[in-house]
Amino acid sequence: MIAADSDAASLAARLRERIARTFRHSLQIRHLDVGSSNGCDWEINALLNPVYDLQRFGIDFVASPRHADLLLVTGAVTRHLEPALWATYEATPEPKLVVAVGACACSGGVVADSYAIAGGVDRRIPVDVYIPGCPPRPQAILHGLLLALDRRQQKVHRTARTVELTG
Ligand code: SF4
Repeated sequence: MIAADSDAASLAARLRERIARTFRHSLQIRHLDVGSSNGCDWEINALLNPVYDLQRFGIDFVASPRHADLLLVTGAVTRHLEPALWATYEATPEPKLVVAVGACACSGGVVADSYAIAGGVDRRIPVDVYIPGCPPRPQAILHGLLLALDRRQQKVHRTARTVELTG
């Protein structure tokens, strides 16, 4: 369930605590638009305004996927940007997280049937967390980031267990 406005502060506090524990106070995000209307991108931008001020929690946006822990993807995958999506995914170090933001990124949205669209993000790369909405509110994106941190712990645990079993 998505938190209401009044829960934004507690959501942010949980996020800060989780980032401190999991990423030693720093979560680096690469935002990638593969064909959005810009609606979702503006909601992501809102996370950096004085109301949400995401950077005070140790979260920042980086220009290179090589420096990112998490890919935040908006828009249905246009065929033109498929290679860029794949190249960005490949360049992001493991254990990487992928979060699809908005109905278009989750499923292709209203343009899913277009000849120019390959579909939702998971038609091309694995997605860890889906954030529905057109566009999702900033609180929903914060909630999705929290879910992604849980997912990362599962991934790290599974990798350690595999090494243990095969080592
Ligand atoms: S989900 Fe809505 S706001 Fe987001 S990119 Fe698609 S059409 Fe735009």
